[in-house]
Amino acid sequence: MRRGGRGLGRLFGTDGVRGIINRDFTPEFVLKLSLAIGSFFGEGSRILVGRDARAGGYIFKSILIGGLLASGIKVYDCDLAPTPAIQYVVSKHGFDGGVVVTASHNPPHYNGIKVIAADGIEIDRNSEEVIEDIFFTERFRRVDWASLVNEPVPYRVVNEIYVKAIIDLVDRDLIAKKGFRVLVDPGNSVAALTTPIIARELGVKVMTINSDLNPHFTSREPEPTMENLSTTIATVRGLNVDLAVAHDGDGDRAIFIDDLGRYIPGERSAALLIEHLVDKHPGLSRKVYTAVSSSNFIEEYLKKYGVEFVWLKVGSVGIAREMKSRGDALCGFEENGGFMYPIHQFVRDGGASFALMLEYLASNNIKLSEAYAKLPKTCVVKTKIHMDRARADRVVETIKNLYSGYRMVTVDGVKVITSNYWFLVRPSGTEPLLRIHVEAIDDDTANRVLQELKKIIDGVL
Ligand code: MG
Repeated sequence: MRRGGRGLGRLFGTDGVRGIINRDFTPEFVLKLSLAIGSFFGEGSRILVGRDARAGGYIFKSILIGGLLASGIKVYDCDLAPTPAIQYVVSKHGFDGGVVVTASHNPPHYNGIKVIAADGIEIDRNSEEVIEDIFFTERFRRVDWASLVNEPVPYRVVNEIYVKAIIDLVDRDLIAKKGFRVLVDPGNSVAALTTPIIARELGVKVMTINSDLNPHFTSREPEPTMENLSTTIATVRGLNVDLAVAHDGDGDRAIFIDDLGRYIPGERSAALLIEHLVDKHPGLSRKVYTAVSSSNFIEEYLKKYGVEFVWLKVGSVGIAREMKSRGDALCGFEENGGFMYPIHQFVRDGGASFALMLEYLASNNIKLSEAYAKLPKTCVVKTKIHMDRARADRVVETIKNLYSGYRMVTVDGVKVITSNYWFLVRPSGTEPLLRIHVEAIDDDTANRVLQELKKIIDGVL
């Protein structure tokens, strides 16, 4: 948790408040934060509360409930549930908001809190600032003893409602007829309570790995990176399955592994899902909302379907909020496996991505490996350089000038796009870092571009 920024201090990062358990994310801290969140929503608000399977989850959720009740909130407790399940139920069942105890994909020693607005999307930056101000000034609104509600309402129907909503999104019979065999890796957390059931309900033969709730994540780390999924990938190769799906700690991301055991990067699987949605909803807009860090080769590939990308700043909350306010998005995605399908809900949803992928394979009668083979093959290099924000901004300005004749996107750092490569140079939103991301048609081009950029950066510094 960082200090500084606007107001008295800052608690929220790009998606919620995160910290190391019992070091900066302590019971005292969570109590104070809960009083601030309760004061923000206000007496009488109906708030849905849940958690992922992380260490400390029960403790922090119990403290959170105490703080909210003391502020006069009507608390509904769904306990263990994926974040997208909680978001879905908040928005569709008339709650005033939600609070999830989760640190999403962060390493096992972290925990955190995501605050959900009534529309199911994480609260915007202005609301975060209100909560931060209440927290630092300690202007908590506590209710009179006579108005206190003593206990939360148990609300253990969230996972069931969510699973049904996802089944209803897709053509169940079409999927069931295919006799798919699928390996589900929920990453030892809450997606274990929903994704295997979604698979079973869709008539899929389901096998699982890392499906026990393990608060210490001893089998694999919560982020579904290629390194963290090495055992899952090896298991796919031995099992003869049609695909594997792997989630992060709170189940809003889905990463796919094809029938040949190849890890499919999130924006590649997003390209297939976008193709599918164009087909599934021919009358809908073909605007796809994504962050500048996503691939222009994917944008190029999807042009034949009439798809147009809307480039936004990095961060899923901003993408979801933009899609909602502009009202013309077919879908949205992030390169990390976050996929948003507004017909269902505006936020990332790992379970929905999984069901849509099965429907895509079934309706195109194609193997995932064949679908993946159609996508452009490229080389990606990423690096980061430590520097303060002022220096990082100077680098960005210099690159804008040097590449002024090129196609450029400047909503977050500077992105330069050519037919053989694109690169993004952008200051990190949370750390004193400059991030560099290059994608090119081959290794040589990618490395040459990276060296060019490094030379320019050396010149500036
Ligand atoms: Mg997550």
